[in-house]
Amino acid sequence: MSEVRLPGPVKATLVDAATKAPAGGFRFWLYGDEPEGTPPAGLNFRCPCGCGQLHGIAWRRKDGSPAGWTWDGNRQAPTCSPSIQSFNADGSKHWHGYLTAGEWGQA
Ligand SMILES: [Zn+2]
Repeated sequence: MSEVRLPGPVKATLVDAATKAPAGGFRFWLYGDEPEGTPPAGLNFRCPCGCGQLHGIAWRRKDGSPAGWTWDGNRQAPTCSPSIQSFNADGSKHWHGYLTAGEWGQA
């Protein structure tokens, strides 16, 4: 499989459940035993290319220490850094891009 490229920016829409998300839709997640209202630990998103894959990134570990990505704290139009690389089941690269101000963009 070859790496996909977005034809243009894709809106990142906040949803209640990632399984219901359109391409580029996302939800915040918590570790399972954390109470509602705890700051999110990361986000799950449906691949912005439209393939239907679900992915996730984390910016906080369970102990509160920082994980791989940063988040600007904006819930409606989040910016995360650095870029996100996703892979196909065979380990080949699938998509590489950014989430900036609530839009998915190509790296
Ligand atoms: Zn995809």
